[in-house]
Amino acid sequence: MKLLLATRNAHKLREVGRVLDGIEIDSLGEDVQLPPEDGATYAANALGKARAAARATRRLVVADDSGIEAAALGGRPGVHSARYAGETAGDAENLALLIEQAPAGSPLAYVCVIALVDGGDGRERLFSGRCAGRMAAAPRGERGFGYDPVFMPDDVGDGRTMAELSDEHKDAISHRGRALRRMAEALRPTTG
Ligand code: IMP
Repeated sequence: MKLLLATRNAHKLREVGRVLDGIEIDSLGEDVQLPPEDGATYAANALGKARAAARATRRLVVADDSGIEAAALGGRPGVHSARYAGETAGDAENLALLIEQAPAGSPLAYVCVIALVDGGDGRERLFSGRCAGRMAAAPRGERGFGYDPVFMPDDVGDGRTMAELSDEHKDAISHRGRALRRMAEALRPTTG
């Protein structure tokens, strides 16, 4: 089986490739246009990207949308995580704003929704994953991306941030790892 991944985010591409080990994954060609991520939910954004790529290629397409939710901020930035500090903001600016606004120790959650759309028969499926954690007092670690340097996952529990974990450890507990494994399970051919 071959999947087409509808993302232009190199970090996500790497993470998906690691978790879906054994499934062949193609990245999206430059010729395929993806819609803006302006939906009200993760599912709407993931479906928008997957549908656009499935229509253009007629292939089995995977797209994810994800974000971080801070309890102290009523769940923000959530679906707006990629543009939290402004339309043109990058990871460093978004991280700096979260540090300014969310108190150390306050609850966080990473959320990921994956849309799987079959460009052949139009079938659409959604899978989700969540990872709970807490805000670190200061950013730590060089791995991962985005908000990882301040995200202390509850599943780790010793104060290390997501950016201090090995790839394998992040994949085992992350929102994206969980959603991807649910999808892989659904794609597994049934035997017997
Ligand atoms: P989108 O899914 O492309 O809309 O991006 C969501 C944003 O949430 C990213 O730009 C990151 O800032 C953040 N995010 C999503 N997943 C992760 C993760 O695994 N680590 C760190 N930040 C993440």
